[in-house]
Amino acid sequence: MNQFERVAFYTLGCKLNFSETSTIARLFEEGGFAKVEFDENPDIFVINTCSVTENADKKCKQLVKRAKIISPESMVVILGCYAQLKPDEISKIPGVDLVLGANEKFNVLAHLKKQSQVKIVHQNIKHTHEFIPSFSLGDRTRSFLKIQDGCDYFCTFCTIPLARGKSRNAGIDKTVFEAERIAKTEVKEVVLTGVNIGDFGQGGDENFFGLIQALDKVDGIERYRISSIEPNLLSNEIIEFCLNEAKRFVPHFHIPLQSGSDVILEKMRRKYKTALFADRIAQIKKFNPNTCIGVDVIVGFPGETNEDFLATVDFLKSLDISYLHVFTYSERANTGAPKLGAKVPMEVRRERSKILHLLSDKKKSNFYNSQIGMTKTVLFEQDNNDGWLHGFTENYVKVKTPFSSHLVNQLCSIQLTEIDRDGLMKCNILTNFA
Ligand code: SF4
Repeated sequence: MNQFERVAFYTLGCKLNFSETSTIARLFEEGGFAKVEFDENPDIFVINTCSVTENADKKCKQLVKRAKIISPESMVVILGCYAQLKPDEISKIPGVDLVLGANEKFNVLAHLKKQSQVKIVHQNIKHTHEFIPSFSLGDRTRSFLKIQDGCDYFCTFCTIPLARGKSRNAGIDKTVFEAERIAKTEVKEVVLTGVNIGDFGQGGDENFFGLIQALDKVDGIERYRISSIEPNLLSNEIIEFCLNEAKRFVPHFHIPLQSGSDVILEKMRRKYKTALFADRIAQIKKFNPNTCIGVDVIVGFPGETNEDFLATVDFLKSLDISYLHVFTYSERANTGAPKLGAKVPMEVRRERSKILHLLSDKKKSNFYNSQIGMTKTVLFEQDNNDGWLHGFTENYVKVKTPFSSHLVNQLCSIQLTEIDRDGLMKCNILTNFA
């Protein structure tokens, strides 16, 4: 019998964290623990933290406080990127029992003995070489498969290499084996996630192109989406394979640009200039003009002048892209960026963010409008949203239809009809492939 029996999880941050929480939860279940909701009086709380999230410390503190109100006698475990970066800071949060660094998080079961003092199990990130494949099985429709971890790029604004270590992955065979495990479940769509997934293989015998070719052969998975890939690693052969040859890869890319000013890209230590980025977009659109392209951009990087920002706006306007993810730059400890230029005042950062959010809305609306009348395949999800069922087409148009339980987790051929007031696309259902 376990000293503790009921465990609840909370994940902050990215899809990678979600896939890892899911894997850690399965380890607990295999160890005889019952997984419960956060407010169901668990004996153990596991909080998987993020270093990128604004106010990671505040969020972590709030969650620990909430956990202790729900179950005062519980054990609270903190792991994830914030735990790797600031273990001592976390250990001082009242209520925390165990802090696990990057190397130890998958060993959590071995450290569960509640002690009178906070226990920290942590190693310098330089010693983290292990790669644990992970995948999420939170909902029936979609799974996030972690294919790679860490990053060797050291962009000047980013703490991820400090929190997650060197770029590494399992071999293609092992990754395909994980995909086959997912294929045996009800999940129909797999999102390939990682920190720098295009770096799969790190220049060795295997590479990302070889991986996606192998994954495409796994029966039982209907769709793969690539979560985000660096533009300099998105080769012509990857683009052509995904858009022209693959059976299961969808026409959707998410590519980080970060700035439309070459001066700022240089300061960020990004590995490309705007010309390469524009060329990648053109290449994608050449193979399939209906491909959805999302782009990450950061506003307010140190030294970003009005001219730099306007160059970003003009560059983004010139690209045939579908939406933006806008991030407001915030200073991170132990990164080079703050020394590279004058601090951009917070109100200017906010204003720039607002301008790009408006541009994103416009891009998205143009993209959605361009799709009206087309026949696409949608994968409907499971939640009933006030009588509506939502799903995404292969090219990432978010679709709604009146809720019907027989459509849940089904791929349907649909015709896109009109954009509703909430910005979602209405559709006519043509065929249900179930
Ligand atoms: S590529 Fe740059 S931004 Fe992305 S994880 Fe690596 S260091 Fe961070």
